[in-house]
Amino acid sequence: MAVEDAELPYLRRCVELAADALDAGDEPFGSVLVGADGKVLAEDHNRVASGDRTRHPEFELARWSAAHLSPAERAAATVYTSGEHCPMCAAAHAWVGLGRIVYVASSEQLSGWLAELGVGPAPVRPLPVQEVAPGVTVEGPVPELTEDIRALHARFHGRAG
Ligand SMILES: [Zn+2]
Repeated sequence: MAVEDAELPYLRRCVELAADALDAGDEPFGSVLVGADGKVLAEDHNRVASGDRTRHPEFELARWSAAHLSPAERAAATVYTSGEHCPMCAAAHAWVGLGRIVYVASSEQLSGWLAELGVGPAPVRPLPVQEVAPGVTVEGPVPELTEDIRALHARFHGRAG
């Protein structure tokens, strides 16, 4: 199942949430959890500026879904996200039994952008979701929106987008 035009609004909302994170002094990542009926169930953005570097939106949505959704609802839900899940979030997603992932920018793209910006490597390897959670259906990147995300990361690291 490819990314459909009808799904772009969810991805645009992820970009908005990433911009909200940036405005709040945080790294620009945003994610939206959508049920089988297309309804937005929860959304969040990065909150690592608090000092807790596990406060990724995808991790938050995985834990929210475990508290609020049945296993069947989780399996039928989709997580849209501005950047591909990191290994921590991919593991949380798989452990709670969430369904498909659609990301705007891949971890490989993000790593390349950060290297160009002179940002040192993260403490966790940027493995693709499927290496961590092979049972999860993953779609992305979405070229229509990747430049928007690259520009937000450039702004976060003090460069003009
Ligand atoms: Zn993460």
